[in-house]
Amino acid sequence: MKSIYMDHSATTPVDKQVFEAMVPYFTEIYGNAASVHSQGRQASRAVELAREQVAALIGASPEEIIFTSGGTEADNQAIIAYMLANRSKGRHIITSAIEHHAVLHCCDWLARQGFEITVLPVNPLGVVEPATLSKALRPDTALVSIMHANNEVGTLEPIAELAAIAHEAGAVFHTDAVQTVGKIPVDVRELGVDLLSASAHKLYGPKGVGCLYSNKKVGITGFVHGGGQENGKRAGTTNVPGIVGFGKAAELAGQNLPVRAAKLTELGQRLIKGLLKEIPHTRLNGHPTERLPGSVSVSFDYVEGESILLMLDSYGIMASSGSACTSGSTDPSHVLLALGIPVESAHGSLRLTMGKDNTDADVDRVLEVLPTIIKKLRAMSPLGH
Ligand code: PLP
Repeated sequence: MKSIYMDHSATTPVDKQVFEAMVPYFTEIYGNAASVHSQGRQASRAVELAREQVAALIGASPEEIIFTSGGTEADNQAIIAYMLANRSKGRHIITSAIEHHAVLHCCDWLARQGFEITVLPVNPLGVVEPATLSKALRPDTALVSIMHANNEVGTLEPIAELAAIAHEAGAVFHTDAVQTVGKIPVDVRELGVDLLSASAHKLYGPKGVGCLYSNKKVGITGFVHGGGQENGKRAGTTNVPGIVGFGKAAELAGQNLPVRAAKLTELGQRLIKGLLKEIPHTRLNGHPTERLPGSVSVSFDYVEGESILLMLDSYGIMASSGSACTSGSTDPSHVLLALGIPVESAHGSLRLTMGKDNTDADVDRVLEVLPTIIKKLRAMSPLGH
């Protein structure tokens, strides 16, 4: 049985070319990038090339890129390091109800240190409406953090407009672009953002490496303290193979983006149409068109997301559920609830996120097996249908 991987928003496989680019930096050029000998200098040159590759993908200058251990650390640095270093500019932060926990939990932590947080609601399609931001801004708002695309429902946010509104009020703007970098065009100047987080493992790069883009205006300070790596902005021995992999992944993403995005948009729309047509009592979560290419989130009434996942897995199809069913907890996801999706429907949510290797045949297969799975589960369901 061929397995079908449709969980690319969780993580992606490492591209073979990325892997090959990384290997020499484990086995041959293993020197510390801070060392003065020839190996160290070679490693350092490779890191600087990767910095150029990542910067090119998002329209930044290389000196605006700080390599981190991933998206989570980039979000932590953008929010916590910025707020702690800029208390004099204000103690108020604005974010949205559908952010990743890497952002929301940073805000919660800052709230416990005496900062004030406003969490903006989203409309039923998952969009942060610009008027809502305008109303929430205050003279003491130092930072606004709104994600570029939501990781659960795929909705794209109007970042350029939101950033302009924040700037008019004198606030700095951060976007968590972990789900968009490499998948849709991302240009920091066009978006007008000051801080942006990205992560390599969402674009066929390795896990455990990402970056924070920070423009000169912000002058972000360090968050992880120790040695003077990353120009004093991120201490710790440089993850040379990981960064080389991130650079290669960024280069490949830039080259392949238009073709991949067009194909994924088509596959995604076909899957959405098919599911809504073939399975009664099904709703699409998120925006119908302003969404991440290849990202599908649906809710089926009268079923549990976890059961759908297990049944799909028995057919070799790997997906994820919208609910955070971790260790016995069946709390529905904060994102789905923020969109106003009723708790019962949120429990029956399914996220199918496609990637570069998914095909029309994969979509056909899901459309073949999923209606039967849902029918079976509904027949067994105590939720009553
Ligand atoms: N932000 C968003 C929107 C994400 O989807 C993720 C990962 O799922 C992260 C942040 C965390 O990134 P990382 O896994 O690189 O720490």
